[in-house]
Amino acid sequence: MSSSINLNAYDATFVDEVQRESEQNLALCYQCGNCTAGCPVSFAYDYPVNQIMRLVQAGRKQEALTSHAIWLCASCETCTARCPNDIDVARIMDVLRNMAQRENLVSEKAVKVFWDSFLQSVEKHGRVFEIGLMVSYISKTGRMFTDMDLAPTALRKGKLSMKAHNIEGISEIRDIFERYREQNS
Ligand code: SF4
Ligand code: SF4
Repeated sequence: MSSSINLNAYDATFVDEVQRESEQNLALCYQCGNCTAGCPVSFAYDYPVNQIMRLVQAGRKQEALTSHAIWLCASCETCTARCPNDIDVARIMDVLRNMAQRENLVSEKAVKVFWDSFLQSVEKHGRVFEIGLMVSYISKTGRMFTDMDLAPTALRKGKLSMKAHNIEGISEIRDIFERYREQNS
């Protein structure tokens, strides 16, 4: 007999973890849909954000953590601002991304590479070094021509620096990354 994952199974541990890490009460969500109505990237989602909330409430870990929506989220926090129950929905999306990484369930590999390259740049310089970010992203994904058409205009207008500049207080930024790694190891 073949075994299969029961996607409908309620995973209480998952619900507890999301609540603890996000410091939000999932039971407060009554599915009004305000978050989805304001989400600017809902058109690209496999599950709109209110359905992500419902999946988490229902303890459906596999579906929530393998969704594309959690990686396509722009972290704009419109959902958080619109929730009538003051649920920090954007923070829950953030927690789900972290959990997906920990469990090796990332559905959008290129987006994760971009996130990692972005954060590495911030850790190294205290700010984003755009050229370094682009080189890192292209070398890891092989996507040579992503947004390349924008480069000449950005260079002409002085929006891209060819040299990285570290901010003052860079050690404090690196401490934040270190604390994050300690908490998530
Ligand atoms: S934070 Fe993400 S889910 Fe919330 S409105 Fe913005 S893009 Fe949509
Ligand atoms: S706006 Fe708040 S209560 Fe309404 S569906 Fe979204 S998370 Fe749930």
